[in-house]
Amino acid sequence: MTRFVENTITFPYQRSLGPVVGAFMTALTERRILGIRNGDAVLVPPMEWDPATGAELALDLVEVGPAGTVEAWTWVPEPSAQHPLDRPFAFAFVRLDGATTPLLHAVDAGAPDRMTVGMRVAPRWKGTRVGRIDDLACFVPGEAPETEGDDAGPAAEPVTRMDYLASITYKNPVPASADRVVEASREHRLIGLECPTCGRVYASGNGYCPIDALPLGPDREVALPQTGTITNFAVVTPVQYPGQTETEPFARVFVLLDGTDVVLGYQPPVELPVDDVHIGVRVSAVWASPGEAVDNASVGGQYGRLVGWIPNGEPDIDDPELVNRIF
Ligand SMILES: [Zn+2]
Repeated sequence: MTRFVENTITFPYQRSLGPVVGAFMTALTERRILGIRNGDAVLVPPMEWDPATGAELALDLVEVGPAGTVEAWTWVPEPSAQHPLDRPFAFAFVRLDGATTPLLHAVDAGAPDRMTVGMRVAPRWKGTRVGRIDDLACFVPGEAPETEGDDAGPAAEPVTRMDYLASITYKNPVPASADRVVEASREHRLIGLECPTCGRVYASGNGYCPIDALPLGPDREVALPQTGTITNFAVVTPVQYPGQTETEPFARVFVLLDGTDVVLGYQPPVELPVDDVHIGVRVSAVWASPGEAVDNASVGGQYGRLVGWIPNGEPDIDDPELVNRIF
């Protein structure tokens, strides 16, 4: 039975909205929906350029709706965490009264048999609005706009930026060999897998030799030395994007283990200031004491209780070939 782990990568950032989308978002906080004139047409949501010709549009905004007509729809029976509603709903093209183009949004109709092309819908607004498309929580059947809970009023200032909370969640299989590496780390053992064909030793990976396409089971496990030499390093200067927890520059080092061809990448140095990190430093493994949390997310936790590598006081190795060892 393969074990899976769930990972989430997030890329939260802010983007500037510009004069047209900024006005659209500001109006949403006022429970109004704006379009932009393009000749005889009214585009909703408003755009800065004519989508057919690319010509810049004059800032001629016009209020539309609040009610509109469903032009097409599809039912979402099992919403995911990233959908706008937590219950089954329809995605629909809603052409708001006075608009030429339809707006894609959610309709909270309860059941698919309540959805029809041509049905009339009106906005359900959030009580607290920040200038985002989901200030308009969804549309509901009928002509009358609704507001959820207490109305906190419009934004105090024009909306010029928005938070963009991009993220992706996925599942990865965990090879049995990876679990064994973590298990061994609890006893402060560093283990690898040795290929019987080519003799290469792997300190991590998926449990097979990628050169020979050969599975490497527990019988191929070997103990790895716990001393080595720094061959490469990177100093990361944190940018304070949303969610960044690091505030000071920090290093990640590559360690060539003694008497082997094994290089461990992106290892945290321990008690080695960023300014003192250099190629050739002799280091030893540092293990977490029982109960101590290990911050090894930079290597995906693949070495378990291995905290990092500390200078062990031996003289530097002066070998110009070291720099070529990143794997
Ligand atoms: Zn091999």
